[in-house]
Formats: sequence, C-alpha cells, structure tokens
Amino acid sequence: MKRTSRCVKCGGTQVFHAPEVMDRGEGNVALPLSIKRSGALLGRDLGQIEAYVCLACGYAEFYVLAPSELAEKQEDGITEDAPAAALRRAPEGSRTRRRRRARDAEAGA
Ligand SMILES: [Zn+2]
Repeated sequence: MKRTSRCVKCGGTQVFHAPEVMDRGEGNVALPLSIKRSGALLGRDLGQIEAYVCLACGYAEFYVLAPSELAEKQEDGITEDAPAAALRRAPEGSRTRRRRRARDAEAGA
C-alpha cells in the first residue's frame, strides 16, 4: 500500500497515510510510536513508525521511517537475530486480527 496506494486486502484505492502513529508516554504525554529510545532521559526515539490505512476496509500497514537508525544501535542490545525472533512470536497480521476482533467486540458484532 505504501508504493501503490492500493489496499492489498480489498483493492480499495483510498489509502490514508499517517506519518506518525500516536502513543502515550509518562504522564499520558502524546508521543510518536517508535521501536526504541536511545537513552532514558536525553535520548531520542529510534525507528519511528508510520502507517498506511485502507479507508474501505481498515487494513493497516506499519513501516519504520528510517530503518537504518536501528542498525546503528546494535551495540545497545539490538542484534540482527532479535527482529527475526520477534517476527516468529507475532506472525504477520496477527496484531491486526486481534485489533479487528476487539473493535468488532466493542461494536457488538
Ligand atoms: Zn482495504
């Protein structure tokens, strides 16, 4: 969807781009969702997430804006194997399905 502006699930052609996805931090402060922070106090967010959402079916894809930032921080404990291990624990689409089920439950569907 990022390159084609066409939904890979339903073929919809209206795709909403969110250059940042909101998260909540300490004190309920709005922050952009990121993979990691480089330090506790004066650090900066690494791997900020952007989203593409199909306006017809709600399917969403997430991307890291600057993936090279993550490679630069391998000395902080991020290894090349860690992302692969994380992917094995969370199969593609499982998070979206859980969110969709939660949304449907709220709607009484
Ligand atoms: Zn769609």
